[in-house]
Amino acid sequence: MEMATRIHIIVFPFPVQGHINPMLQFAKRLASKGTGIKVTLVTTTSSTSSNSIQLAESSSVNIESIYDGVDEGEKIESFDLYLERFKVAIPRSLAEFIQSIKKQENKLVLVYDSVIPWALDIARQLGVYGASFFTQSCAVCAIYYHVNQGSLLNINPHRPQGRQGIAAAGSSSSMVSVPSVPVLLGINDLPSFICDTDSYPFLLTIVLDQFSNFHKADWLLFNTFDKLEREVVNWMSSRWPMIKTVGPTIPSMYLDKRLEDDRDYGLNLFKPDAEACMKWLESKESRSVVYVSFGSLANLGELQMEELAWGLLMSNTYFLWVVRASEQSKLPSNFMGGGNSKGLVVNWCPQLEVLAHRAVGCFVTHCGWNSTLEALSLGVPMVAMPQWTDQATNAKCIVDVWHAGVRVRVDNEKGLVSRDEFELCIRQVMEGEKGNELRKNAVRWKELAKEAVHEGGSSDNNIEEFVSELVST
Ligand code: UDP
Repeated sequence: MEMATRIHIIVFPFPVQGHINPMLQFAKRLASKGTGIKVTLVTTTSSTSSNSIQLAESSSVNIESIYDGVDEGEKIESFDLYLERFKVAIPRSLAEFIQSIKKQENKLVLVYDSVIPWALDIARQLGVYGASFFTQSCAVCAIYYHVNQGSLLNINPHRPQGRQGIAAAGSSSSMVSVPSVPVLLGINDLPSFICDTDSYPFLLTIVLDQFSNFHKADWLLFNTFDKLEREVVNWMSSRWPMIKTVGPTIPSMYLDKRLEDDRDYGLNLFKPDAEACMKWLESKESRSVVYVSFGSLANLGELQMEELAWGLLMSNTYFLWVVRASEQSKLPSNFMGGGNSKGLVVNWCPQLEVLAHRAVGCFVTHCGWNSTLEALSLGVPMVAMPQWTDQATNAKCIVDVWHAGVRVRVDNEKGLVSRDEFELCIRQVMEGEKGNELRKNAVRWKELAKEAVHEGGSSDNNIEEFVSELVST
């Protein structure tokens, strides 16, 4: 007999693909932890339509949508404008949603995206527990934390009087040491909002604001695992005991296989060309294909796209390249013509299935945190080509901490990665001793990722602990 619902967990990600995926996956893990737990993922009306959601029948996560200030059919010009609408509409619609279910439930918990820190105020006002979910690495969060404290580089826009650099390893080398981050960081390894504070001031404010009230949250959840970021996790846990690592949040079938039919995230903001990709990959030999993707948000310049296109052709390997529909016009006009049979270009693909396919030998990635974790969890070595936000720091870790990839060198004068450089990096990962070493390391991370989410692993234990703390609070 099913118990009456005791705990209702509401999971609210910021509505972009890279935040929905890990939080939805976490929601599935929670829902699998017992009949006394009900889990609802809250999306927004303008980001999701019913055909973008395809959860496995066995999944017991409910999906609800709340109004985010954008009316049906309305087009919002820019991300800043969307954020303005979001900030006005969401406090009210989220509060209304929570109130509407509050009467029926014994205990409510709001797991909110760390980039929406004000969601904690809503939870508190309504007498609901609050857990902040961080969708970036602990290393990146540590950097933002220090900048917000004014203890790193003195560039915190909120605190112009902040203390000078914490442990700068000499200004001549321009290397920075961040407590607990296991490598020295050059300027080009820091998150882009930090090393170029003028580029996206409103996004800088958002990433720093994650730390405005994080210490007041009941739990701090991170999509990472202990062995991947040991030093920084230890450092954080010693200061904030409510921290729990719960990652990698990859569908269970790729890791521990304990969640039935869980092979996909289940909520796609873009429509994948799944059949075309998988059929094409099936026809290729093992480890013969380079998979290229820059995620859901990054925009490359036309000149850069051209260098990539020719670099891929020069490498003479098969390639599967995801070029979003909005980016397609930047491809060189004659690129796929002339009987070029080596490549397949698609607008979106089922990335996990692709990375798990035996034919894929290398992942050229922008180093979004999900893509990074997915590559490590599936044992695929990378060519790191970071674009913005946290990606440069992830690239640094991929190369110098996890030893699972190489990073492209940017020609600073032109601000571009040349076709020759790109070809060289692909060859380094696909061929020879170095390539074998990188793959071996990536496969080691795959085993450790599996171990973390398997029964008794560090992330599994933390999720169990989270649930039992909810029960006992
Ligand atoms: N993704 C996908 N198909 C694609 C490209 C990306 O399913 O063709 C997924 C990918 O698996 C990952 C997410 O989109 O889970 C992208 O998140 P990430 O953090 O890597 O980058 P972002 O898009 O946030 O820059």
